[in-house]
Amino acid sequence: MKLRVIDSHGHLQDEDFQPDREQVYDRTIKEGVGLIVPGYTMESSAKAVAFAESHPGTWALVGIHPHDSKDKKPGDLEQLRAWVTEQPKVVGIGEIGLDYHYNNSPPEVQRTVFREQLELAEELQVPAAVHTREAEEDTWAIIREVGITRGVIHCFTGSADFAQQMLELGWYISFSGAITFKSAHALRQVVEAVPLDRILVETDSPYLSPVPWRGQRNEPLRVIRVAEVVAAQKNCLTQQVFEQTVSNTIRLFSVTPEIG
Ligand SMILES: [Zn+2]
Repeated sequence: MKLRVIDSHGHLQDEDFQPDREQVYDRTIKEGVGLIVPGYTMESSAKAVAFAESHPGTWALVGIHPHDSKDKKPGDLEQLRAWVTEQPKVVGIGEIGLDYHYNNSPPEVQRTVFREQLELAEELQVPAAVHTREAEEDTWAIIREVGITRGVIHCFTGSADFAQQMLELGWYISFSGAITFKSAHALRQVVEAVPLDRILVETDSPYLSPVPWRGQRNEPLRVIRVAEVVAAQKNCLTQQVFEQTVSNTIRLFSVTPEIG
């Protein structure tokens, strides 16, 4: 079976899915929806790797989120490297980045840990999935300095200028349920401006459920709703968004969209 669409970012390894993880996975894959599961700590990265290893149509990313960069320990980078080089279902480094909204880790620590992980991705020739909030300038500058041209800004909620800058660096833009929110007019204009061959779609499950499920636990199947809204902005068929975003995801992450 070929995958119809791929949720490029969903945390199915999370606690929130403890009660019914296998059922959520089953109904996702039954609809032909694939999934990339990013880590955000060493522990959640290990869980993402184990999940992807045992679930066809899913892949893992490993990395330390900006919130948790203060907890990075000696040896963590070596473990990330080992996962990428030894586990075939690990397809990149993520999610990593900068978050100056919460500053759960000191900004200078965030920048150091972000740069180290980007350099690792560049060295291993794998893409990076980046979270950025109120930190567009530094995010762009560090990515540009490291010189990594394979990556995606996940759950894009930024400015049109930032999207343009990232496109110029060769990066992809991933849209989430945030584009369905009533007030997200400016964001929907960014969807309009980004060429379809540079767009990925995601849920960021369990967060950010699209309208009409806003506030509920999100799940990968709802990536279909995100694709529908992208299609509406692009004035094209949802099927086209499915096909194009699947081929974009294959190109970026080198995944094989076959299951079973
Ligand atoms: Zn995430």
